Amino acid sequence: MPILRKRQIENLAQMNGEELEQFLDSLAADKEEIEELFEYLEKKLEREPCNDTLRFSMQFMMENRLNFPKLSNWLQQNGGYCDCKVLEQIAPEWRKAFDRIKKTS
Ligand SMILES: [Zn+2]
Repeated sequence: MPILRKRQIENLAQMNGEELEQFLDSLAADKEEIEELFEYLEKKLEREPCNDTLRFSMQFMMENRLNFPKLSNWLQQNGGYCDCKVLEQIAPEWRKAFDRIKKTS
């Protein structure tokens, strides 16, 4: 039987502020940087359709000197196999988790 590991992105909603901090450390990115990535993708994909790669994500990470290997690996593990999937699978869960922290702190 294969073990179905719960995707980390689904656990974010259960994390407290401190755990989210640790999570961001492990990602080597700021919360703001990731949110800018989502906004960047939203703008780019309005003009051009997704080509089933992480090309715009890669562009953004290169321009902002983010850790592309690490981040793209994390995105893919969480269902973000291409730019549109990042927006579809990751952005809503991310925003849910972090908006909740903003409100409670
Ligand atoms: Zn896509």
